[in-house]
Amino acid sequence: MRDVNSEVAGWLRDLAFVQKSPHSRWGYKRAAAAVMYLPVPIDTLVNPDGTLQKIPSIGPASTRVILEVLRDGTSPIVDDAVEAAEPKTRADILRRRGLRSNFLSRAAAEEAMRSPTPNAPARADIRCDLQMHSDWSDGGQTLEEIIETGLARGYTHSAVTDHSYGLPIAGGLSMARIEQQHREIDALNAKYQGKFRLLKGIEANIRADGSVDMTYSELALMEIVVAAPHSALRSSADQTARMLGAVQTPGVHILGHPRGRMYGSRPGVTAEWERVFDAAARLDVAIELDGDPSRQDLDYDLARRAIASGCLFALDSDAHATDQWWYAETALAHARLAGVPRDRVINCWPLPRLLEWAGRRTLAA
Ligand SMILES: [Zn+2]
Repeated sequence: MRDVNSEVAGWLRDLAFVQKSPHSRWGYKRAAAAVMYLPVPIDTLVNPDGTLQKIPSIGPASTRVILEVLRDGTSPIVDDAVEAAEPKTRADILRRRGLRSNFLSRAAAEEAMRSPTPNAPARADIRCDLQMHSDWSDGGQTLEEIIETGLARGYTHSAVTDHSYGLPIAGGLSMARIEQQHREIDALNAKYQGKFRLLKGIEANIRADGSVDMTYSELALMEIVVAAPHSALRSSADQTARMLGAVQTPGVHILGHPRGRMYGSRPGVTAEWERVFDAAARLDVAIELDGDPSRQDLDYDLARRAIASGCLFALDSDAHATDQWWYAETALAHARLAGVPRDRVINCWPLPRLLEWAGRRTLAA
């Protein structure tokens, strides 16, 4: 599948990192982001006379590059600029190019949503989001906004998974704060009874040694535990043992953004993923497809390997605000491209089945 917007954005990103002035670097990065977020392939926005329709955030210099790429599949403007750059800059651009693979543009994700894929989950099958952050930690949405946004999307439940106390930089919650949050969740669930259920979740941090930053008795207070790595994400050393440690931790339900990669900047964890996926499948831990556009983690290639291991999957937005819930669709697009069977997506399960599975995982200690 050709993702023309993602290709075009890549060329604009290259050009951004050649720029010496922060202002023009910012301009090209902004143009690249605008292309990644377009809902339609950019070649459909070319006028009959060969000019490009006006797109917000995309100026004349970016437009010249875009038209080159659409016409020739390459950009001499960018190639020349990279060639003329200092060796250090050139090396940095080549490194960044290697960190953009399998990132879907929004238009490509939309196309994956439309293409007929029997047995794969569709938008209407999704009943919940299981990784989301509220204003209790580093998010901007209140708990009630999470419920209202979920209802508007046709969901029946969802989990708020603020950061745990091991990640103070992201506003990680102390256990005292968690206790307060649970009281507020109980009150909201009483108010929305029969309409929506907000699950008590946490995004626990996977330490470098593979342990999780909360004790078992603390994890057992949570209905959904996402464990995710937030450190050593630029190391090329093998971290299989770390990821296995997290998966084997009693009380963990979901391995969140397993690689911890970041678009064009960070490779994330290196591991023998088959061993991690085999262990997750054996222990009934779900593997997350995190749909944050700059994460897309796992991507469809790695997800295929997790399917072969027999894993369960969680397709989450990792939304920190109400206007980011659509990120779940990026996760869904990767699941559809990988061919994840609908029944293995825990977001498609009715709430009682989800709770039964989660409870079994918690009691497995
Ligand atoms: Zn995280």
